[in-house]
Amino acid sequence: MYDVLIPKAYFVKLLENLAAMVEEQKDYLTHLDAQIGDSDHGVNLSIGFREVMKKLPDLVAQDVDIATLLKKSGMSLLSRVGGASGPLYGSLFMKLGAPVAGKNEVTFAELCEMIKSGIDAVVSRGKAELGDKTMVDALLPARDALFAGMEEGLKPLDVMEKAVAAAEAGRDSVVDKVAKKGRAMRLGERAIGHVDPGTASSCLFLRVFTDTLKEFV
Ligand SMILES: [Mg+2]
Repeated sequence: MYDVLIPKAYFVKLLENLAAMVEEQKDYLTHLDAQIGDSDHGVNLSIGFREVMKKLPDLVAQDVDIATLLKKSGMSLLSRVGGASGPLYGSLFMKLGAPVAGKNEVTFAELCEMIKSGIDAVVSRGKAELGDKTMVDALLPARDALFAGMEEGLKPLDVMEKAVAAAEAGRDSVVDKVAKKGRAMRLGERAIGHVDPGTASSCLFLRVFTDTLKEFV
């Protein structure tokens, strides 16, 4: 069940769908960041994904492998996105392909390894821990849910849904906490009651990974 093959076309579509989602959710994410940050999260991601979309046709024409496609896209995010989210999402995409270098299709089990690799890169780059009220609070539970879901023997799409649900629960679990990292840290108790924009975008990203997969498995 977990050896179902996912073609490179999934990752091309994934980048396109992520770019569309970011445009759609730009104002929402910026609104969240206005509450406890500097109002730029949605705008930053939009700038980054517009750059990713600009580079995508060439990467498709060059027929690069999945890891290269994702790495180059991550480099676009890293170079174009300001704030903390550029380096963090940049790292995530740059490391997504690390477990599948040279491949043009991957199994579902490999996709889970890829997502784990990307999330682990965010954790090591950001040095945030669970409960710090950062994107790690959404991403770490999602990572663990993927592997728990496979252990349970859930179908691939149900494994992904379990990860999205875990991310959303993680996002909600830190709403009533103070932030221990990032700009919101300076607000102290005034951050309580607000959704962290990084946890919100992380949930939206995972939702797109999941919904895009429905067209391919
Ligand atoms: Mg910001």
